Amino acid sequence: MKLVLASGNAGKLAEIRKILTGSGIALVAQSELGIADTEETGRSFVENAILKARHAAHAAGLPALGDDSGICVDALGGAPGLLSARYAGAHGNAAANIARLMDALRAVPDAQRTAHFHCTIVLLRHADDPAPLIAEGRWHGTILHSPRGDKGFGYDPVFRPDDGGGLSAAELDAVTKNRISHRGLALARLREMCARGH
Ligand code: IMP
Repeated sequence: MKLVLASGNAGKLAEIRKILTGSGIALVAQSELGIADTEETGRSFVENAILKARHAAHAAGLPALGDDSGICVDALGGAPGLLSARYAGAHGNAAANIARLMDALRAVPDAQRTAHFHCTIVLLRHADDPAPLIAEGRWHGTILHSPRGDKGFGYDPVFRPDDGGGLSAAELDAVTKNRISHRGLALARLREMCARGH
């Protein structure tokens, strides 16, 4: 089955492709089809994931996978949340986003630096699909005081997952991250739904 991924984020595309290896699903990024990003005007991850998937399904004439994700920091009332990619303004500038997060948490002690990544994945069989498949995953951990590691993308260098043996998400190998991450969990749930025929 050929699916269009409603994202141009190279880090995400690589992760999702790896996770779907052997599933019989061939993923093509919307950017590879010349489809531009749509505006993320939703007020929740699930709304944005549906908006993105619908836009891609419509433009490509293919089933579409929409993913919306972000990091929610408890001491910041859940911020940056939906705005994770744009926290420091320029879209996708991970270093600036991390710098702003470090600043915002400068006076926050370790015990209060809890956070989680959230991922919502939506599968639309076609642009007008009235019953999209929706799967979510959360990955809990704490925010470090400075970046560590060079793998992954986005906020990975400053996120230490509770189940990562003390390593930052950017110090984990890709196979381990994909097994335990918010995106890995959401995709595993989506695959289960597909296998059950839902
Ligand atoms: P989206 O493209 O609107 O879903 O933006 C998600 C943003 O959240 C990304 O640009 C990253 O900043 C952050 N993010 C989501 N998932 C991860 C992850 O697995 N590691 C690090 N950062 C992530």
